[in-house]
Amino acid sequence: MTNKTARPAAAPQHDLLPLPDRQADRVTVLLPLPVPLPVGEGYDYRVPAGMDLREGDIVEVPLGKRHMVGVVWRLGGSGEVPEARLKDVAAKLDAPPLPEGLRRFVSWVASYTLAPPGAVLRMAMSVPAALEPPKPVVAYEATPGFDAEALRPTPARRRVLSFLADTPPLPAAEIARQAGVSAGVVKGLAEAGALRPVLLPPAPPPPLPDPDLKRADLAPDQATAAAALAEAVGQGYRATLLDGVTGSGKTEVYFEAIAATLKAGEQVLVLLPEIALTPHWLERFEARFGCRPTEWHSELTQAQRRDNWRAVAEGKAGIVVGARSALFLSFPNLGLIVVDEEHESAFKQEEGVTYHARDMAVVRAYLAKIPIVLVSATPSLETMANVENGRYQRVSLPDRFAGAALPMIQAIDMRAHRPPQGRWLSPPLVEAVRGTLAAGEQALLFLNRRGYAPLTLCGACGHRLACPNCTAWLVEHRLAGRLQCHQCGHTEKLPDHCPACDSDEGFKAVGPGVERIAEEVMQLFPDARFALIASDTLGGPAAVAEMLRSVRDREVDILIGTQMVAKGHHFPMLTLVGVVDADLGLVGGDLRAAERTYQLLHQVAGRAGRAEHPGRVLLQTYDPGHKVIQALVEGDRDRFLEAEADDRRRAGMPPFGRLAALIISGADKNLVEAVALRLGRSAPRNLPGQTEVRVLGPAPAPFAVLRGRHRFRLLLQAPRGVNVQALLRHWLAQAQIPHAVRVTVDIDPYSFL
Ligand code: ADP
Ligand code: ZN
Ligand code: ZN
Repeated sequence: MTNKTARPAAAPQHDLLPLPDRQADRVTVLLPLPVPLPVGEGYDYRVPAGMDLREGDIVEVPLGKRHMVGVVWRLGGSGEVPEARLKDVAAKLDAPPLPEGLRRFVSWVASYTLAPPGAVLRMAMSVPAALEPPKPVVAYEATPGFDAEALRPTPARRRVLSFLADTPPLPAAEIARQAGVSAGVVKGLAEAGALRPVLLPPAPPPPLPDPDLKRADLAPDQATAAAALAEAVGQGYRATLLDGVTGSGKTEVYFEAIAATLKAGEQVLVLLPEIALTPHWLERFEARFGCRPTEWHSELTQAQRRDNWRAVAEGKAGIVVGARSALFLSFPNLGLIVVDEEHESAFKQEEGVTYHARDMAVVRAYLAKIPIVLVSATPSLETMANVENGRYQRVSLPDRFAGAALPMIQAIDMRAHRPPQGRWLSPPLVEAVRGTLAAGEQALLFLNRRGYAPLTLCGACGHRLACPNCTAWLVEHRLAGRLQCHQCGHTEKLPDHCPACDSDEGFKAVGPGVERIAEEVMQLFPDARFALIASDTLGGPAAVAEMLRSVRDREVDILIGTQMVAKGHHFPMLTLVGVVDADLGLVGGDLRAAERTYQLLHQVAGRAGRAEHPGRVLLQTYDPGHKVIQALVEGDRDRFLEAEADDRRRAGMPPFGRLAALIISGADKNLVEAVALRLGRSAPRNLPGQTEVRVLGPAPAPFAVLRGRHRFRLLLQAPRGVNVQALLRHWLAQAQIPHAVRVTVDIDPYSFL
């Protein structure tokens, strides 16, 4: 950034500067820009006479020719910029200031992830509209008495008119979105007089949850666990693992900690890994507390984002449930964080600022001096290591609620029980499904693979259809009638002729996806009602909720699904779970392949027999002796975790060692490779006193091309005590990176692709 007047401030020396108690005449302002600050914490500005500024205030400042909104990061400024070159703060916005806990969190995340502080601040100021005082909203309704037929409306206009016939007035953009038309259609109708504007008052504050509304009658060990969590409220930082088998009532238990926090007048943040979980969670929350929580995730409309951001920042939202980005909301009064399904890798943000929301949630709680509860039936090795070394306390729920038994898990050795040619369900699994249906119960067939088949090849020459932009095969989605790349989203029709040999003999599908399993189920059980659940076969959260309801109301006999069905759902009549390919996650696996497969299969298995009917789980595998399959069959989670931990400890891998990845990417393969090689040569190897630091690579990434960009990877491995960030900063500061090449740093990587 080149800006002559608003100079970057030099690094602060807090301990040397007297704290100004008179009104500051200079301030350092951090701007939400994803570019590195050359030095210091932000840019210096003069405070005009009569403006009273505090740290955290939201201000508008001149930057070059434009104005930007930023946050007062420090009073007093750096003192480095001569008076004559200073510009004035243009205005102080009428918005709730960014609380100190969040400001310290922003700085902490930036320094841990090596992201520019402005890039992290941008996540905390993700809704610029929320920084303006709420204004009345312009909405549209059908003009009463207007003869729309006289306009001879197009089908799109008709959709809008019939949509508005039974909906209260909505903003134009929202009408367009919900009616599935372009904004121009709504505008056209308004100009023709068929719609008229009405002013809606600013959003009302969210309803107040009632902590005493409907407390569950807790079983004795649930009550003990709940008391332990509730006691921590108001007592400063403390991290607790709530470790309980599936169906033990973990949600009911942490609801009591939420109730205690609400009673203390403080805010609560619940992080959930996936939005698919929330319909059921939201219903349970509402039943317990009498209202919906404030939501924060990517499905919200712009208007909802603005209202919810503001409600949180004004302290009016008592409880927020959200995806990982909710960590950066501006809570003035946060009293508790809950991270449900803490082991989920979906908490890792892979784009932009790469961070792990579970780990950062612990930091957020630590900086805010509040308790945090991590919840799981299959805790991550990271969390278990922290329990073992005493940093986290553990609260356990060893039994399912109401005496429901844990399901019996068995392996089917596929070498002995081969399915017929072109089929994927083995005879024992087919028999088990038949028995379940005969008993009037439900079965789930699980395969974590979307589409019809993962690979499509030419019947004449064997050519495999691949994505033009990525190192990836195209996946056939027969329901949608297209081939799709699961990396970049590229789609195309199945070609008439082979692109390699021009034969028109046709293509062969290789291997199964859930759509192919559905086809097999139709052939095997023509009278059974089945449902397919995958992220691409269901529209939005509403469709997912409807599907889950139909399963609960027993309108479905056989459920076929990807990991979307594995999460948190409670189906009382579901007694059989068949895992079509239990080996899937283990092949070609990375560091966490075994851990992740164990967690996923354990969670799927946990769908079976959650009520009075006992459950049974069948794992189809070609490797029944594998430690993951053995651990599942024997039900010995802790032995599995210990064995995994031993392997990792020996290899110096996380959580016992530290990893950081560098991904070097760009359009020009030679240039990317040259930069990667140069970085490899200057890597911090064999440093005096730090001989255990290793740098692997550079090597072409497994996805050597992604979205048209060539990619190389380097991996740094170091013992826990090493300051990896300092090493990386030093290493990268010396590298000359051309503009056409991007170097991305991934601290604690979860993906190695
Ligand atoms: P987990 O999250 O540990 O898998 P849940 O919290 O989903 O378990 O509980 C499983 C089921 O048991 C849910 O339907 C829940 O409502 C019910 N349940 C758990 N504890 C109680 C309780 N104390 N009273 C009534 N129902 C309970
Ligand atoms: Zn061919
Ligand atoms: Zn692709």
